Amino acid sequence: MARGCRTPIVFLTAETAERVDIAAMNAGALDYLVKGEITPRMIERSLRYALKLGETLEALRRLATRDQLTGLLNRREFERILTEEEERSRRFGHPLSLVMMDIDHFKRVNDTHGHPAGDVVLREVARRVADQVRTVDRVVRFGGEELVLILVQTDRVGALDVARRACAVVERDPVLVGDTIALNVTVSAGVAAMPVDASSGLTLLNAADKALYAAKSRGRNRAVAFNEL
Ligand code: GH3
Ligand code: MG
Ligand code: MG
Repeated sequence: MARGCRTPIVFLTAETAERVDIAAMNAGALDYLVKGEITPRMIERSLRYALKLGETLEALRRLATRDQLTGLLNRREFERILTEEEERSRRFGHPLSLVMMDIDHFKRVNDTHGHPAGDVVLREVARRVADQVRTVDRVVRFGGEELVLILVQTDRVGALDVARRACAVVERDPVLVGDTIALNVTVSAGVAAMPVDASSGLTLLNAADKALYAAKSRGRNRAVAFNEL
């Protein structure tokens, strides 16, 4: 019940059996109060502690699953989600696509304007790209300046469309760094889809990576699909 639920839950019940208490705890409840034993003060205290603990758990969850610089999902979370979505795709026969993106000539930004300027660019690119996907999709910081989009129930054509939009929205306006620097930034993207290009999460990732490599060698600032290689 409580898996994925972010609301702190306190059980209030007339049931005194310990197995019910334990079942409530395992289901994610933060406290368990028995009606005959409680006072108003106990309820107030229990709710206050549950809210505080809920906040702490949320902060820990964020630390464990997100990248600090961009706020995107981290690599560990990517692997977990990919395994889950791969299975779902196979079981329900839905397509699943990955878009792997990498900022073009990013080293130049760091070399010319410094690492903090690079960080600003990375954060802004992440924000713009994340804006292009539906809430059911996931955006991951895969490595240094590589992002991956996990697009559920999306075939190659749909994924290519998202990838092209993401490239366009990064290119469209310069990224402002402080008050005086405006940088033209572009990204390249590789697209692959299950089941047409790959039959597992790992081979899907490899296919998207190969397509990204092709996008780089064909001139950057573009999206290439695996079947175009
Ligand atoms: P290409 O178009 O071929 O991708 O060229 P590139 O210069 O982007 O190539 P490469 O992938 O080798 O360079 C990535 C650079 O990204 C190198 C690394 O210093 C930088 N980088 C990785 N993570 C961060 C980060 O968190 N902040 C900043 N500022 N730079 C980072
Ligand atoms: Mg790069
Ligand atoms: Mg790179």
